Amino acid sequence: MGFLRHIFRRDRKSRYTSLRPSTLAVKHPAETADQEIKRLWQTARRTALTIGKRQEAVDICTKLLDLITPADQEHDRGEVFHNRAMYYRMLKDYDSAIKDLQQELHFAQNRGQQQRVRFCKKLIDETRQLQRRAQIAQQGGRKADFFDQMTTQAQKLWSDSPESGPAFDWLFQQLRDSDADIRTEAARLLAQPPKSLEKLVNIYNAQHKTNPADAGLAGRVLGRKIDTNYPNTSPAQVAKSMFGTDIDFIEATCFHCGYHNEAIPIPPNAGKNSFKRRANPEHAPYSVSVICDRCGQEYFLIWDADPT
Ligand SMILES: [Zn+2]
Repeated sequence: MGFLRHIFRRDRKSRYTSLRPSTLAVKHPAETADQEIKRLWQTARRTALTIGKRQEAVDICTKLLDLITPADQEHDRGEVFHNRAMYYRMLKDYDSAIKDLQQELHFAQNRGQQQRVRFCKKLIDETRQLQRRAQIAQQGGRKADFFDQMTTQAQKLWSDSPESGPAFDWLFQQLRDSDADIRTEAARLLAQPPKSLEKLVNIYNAQHKTNPADAGLAGRVLGRKIDTNYPNTSPAQVAKSMFGTDIDFIEATCFHCGYHNEAIPIPPNAGKNSFKRRANPEHAPYSVSVICDRCGQEYFLIWDADPT
């Protein structure tokens, strides 16, 4: 008898848990298709707030993607891909997250939503970085140890302790490392604590005319931090409100390898004037130093007249 009751309880419990997600997805009898989509949309967002329920949120988004056809003008299919990508990211399934963000990117490109296109590209880059970090941690070895060391130093940037100054200087040096993974991680860590951002702004402001190498490194971290999700707002306007400083950002290919580098800091008026790319700044009246994201070599954008 006890055994039977045990089986019965187990059976009831497992049926209850396995039925629950599909219960959420079952259409209520009196619902219109539109009401069903709205209900599922809200349920997915609410469900994703609970750490153990992200897979359930993914499943609801998958159901929504069945209901919203690509031709549907009423509902934003791209937004469902976007949210599902974020839930995949929380589950550390980076491949699926990138695939969904690429779907959202196509959606935004087809609708000519330029701001959203930029935001999607930024999220795809960010997700690739998260994936790369997870791979490095999983592989272990010296590089994983070095990443742990960088994380330890970065934690000091959040405090007022005397160690925060040397920690900043040490991480700043890693922006010049020959390894692209280390440069990217250093930039990511420096871009988070408010005190670190303030130091980067000060370095850029004080040194962009006298020390292009340091100013270029500092400005580039700020450029990657710029939020691209403001409609009808230029990067310079966003920088002004985020950092309170006059700085604009452009893209320019590497002098050495041709790689397309982004978020290069320049004075706000400099973008109107033409510039050249060189391996060294020679006696240029104004130059901006760039360390290429791919080859790690330094090159310069130079202006024939000081644009500041
Ligand atoms: Zn290069």
